[in-house]
Amino acid sequence: ENRGTKGIAALPLPQPVKVQEVRHTKIFIDNEWHTSSSGRTFPTFNPATGHKICDVEEADKEDVDRAVKAAKAAEQRGSPWRRMDASSRGRLLHKLADLMERDRLLLATLETLDTGKPFLQSFFIDLDGSIKTLRYYAGWADKIHGRSLPVDESFMCFTKHEPVGVCGAIIPWNFPLLMFMWKMAPALSCGNTVVIKPAEQTPLTALHVGALIKEAGFPPGVVNILPGFGPTAGAAIASHMDVDKVAFTGSTEVGQLIKEASAKSNLKRVTLELGGKNPCIVFADCDSGCGGDPERSFLQPGVENVKKIVIGDPMDPQTSHGPQISQQHFDKIMDLIESGKEEGARLEYGGAAVGENRLFIQPTIFSGVKDQMRIAKEEIFGPVQCIFSFKRQQEAIERANRSQYGLVSAIFTRSMDRALSVSAALETGTVWINCYNALHAQTPFGGYKMSGNGRELGEYALAEYSEVKAVTIKLSETL
Ligand code: NAD
Repeated sequence: ENRGTKGIAALPLPQPVKVQEVRHTKIFIDNEWHTSSSGRTFPTFNPATGHKICDVEEADKEDVDRAVKAAKAAEQRGSPWRRMDASSRGRLLHKLADLMERDRLLLATLETLDTGKPFLQSFFIDLDGSIKTLRYYAGWADKIHGRSLPVDESFMCFTKHEPVGVCGAIIPWNFPLLMFMWKMAPALSCGNTVVIKPAEQTPLTALHVGALIKEAGFPPGVVNILPGFGPTAGAAIASHMDVDKVAFTGSTEVGQLIKEASAKSNLKRVTLELGGKNPCIVFADCDSGCGGDPERSFLQPGVENVKKIVIGDPMDPQTSHGPQISQQHFDKIMDLIESGKEEGARLEYGGAAVGENRLFIQPTIFSGVKDQMRIAKEEIFGPVQCIFSFKRQQEAIERANRSQYGLVSAIFTRSMDRALSVSAALETGTVWINCYNALHAQTPFGGYKMSGNGRELGEYALAEYSEVKAVTIKLSETL
């Protein structure tokens, strides 16, 4: 799963940097740092220790208004950003990627401080994915164009792709930097401007990127960054009359609020990346030689692997499993683990909090899980694996599809023929075959059903950030 860290054992490991003081904690509008109009700040915590890292300015509706005004001015026809030729936009995105490479250790350290995810994951997965996303869309900037169309010969018709305008972005805490890049990079590649709100639990890397945006030379107002809370700053973006599009990653419940806010304001475009309950179907031909019972033969190596997971200080490069993000999230996961025990699933490993700091949870494996159990139906979003057994392929497909969600699925088998047939039947936006979590900037990502609308990444995302203008010309004569 940690494909980004594969093969690194032989290399000298990158080390986190010492962060004495977090430099960027204010609201970033028009390439300047601002205090909040309300005068309020909020603390951000290190979930591994429970200690406060720093206070951050708390943006709310008034600050969102200021940011949207700046973003709108920056995207008006005739503005430096709109007049900039497309390849120069691409160069700016490359410059930003260069600066993120320069600051990669610091950004990975800040990401781990704020989220608790292991440092090597931040360094190799989040930073790698973020930088590659910027470079991928840097390459697109001067390759986005319309077409001429074969209409009735007394007309000539062509299309032009234009920016949508001001693009809002609302980000969750699990991939603070990566989800920001997934939204900002295609938006800027297409010539839009951006107003982004990081998650209230994890604002620090987004704010550091603000400094890099300025250093790279983006014109003022092109990217604006507002740390703050969902029901205030987030809702103000979603319902703003001058925000033309909003891209959201987070829970399905909040996704529904975002769509409602769009409908009740200016019908802004909405793309949503929401929750999931992602089936991973392992066929018996993957049998590792433990006898005729596929569930046990899958389970035993799985439990052995999980025992090797090192839980602890996420800054330690040996650690592979950090804390949960907050007490509230910890409680939700533990409640679901308890429900699994009570409803009769077999606890094969884990299931308890670790150490004195109550935010660490053991990686947990349940077997014998039945479809009606809560752990089978509800999104856990924590370190809990639920193992179900099935007898027939069709049964596995039907049970996998019996969900309100449709984000990703995975198939493990030696038969590519079977893998392709099953992948055609699964109702998910991504199907991984003999791999998991394999994300690439070139490959679209998004959900079927209540897992979302629209696609991020790849060429597909460009359509979400472009308006298409059709120009039709009547010819005075046809020859
Ligand atoms: P969340 O929905 O609570 O919060 C996500 C973001 O929305 C945060 O920035 C939050 O401040 C903001 N927000 C909250 N209420 C809002 C409102 N009323 N209006 C506007 N913005 C609001 O989700 P979370 O707990 O931070 O993240 C976990 C969820 O995100 C899980 O359900 C997970 O499945 C989902 N997620 C999905 C993907 C994906 O790619 N589909 C990726 C990561 C996370």
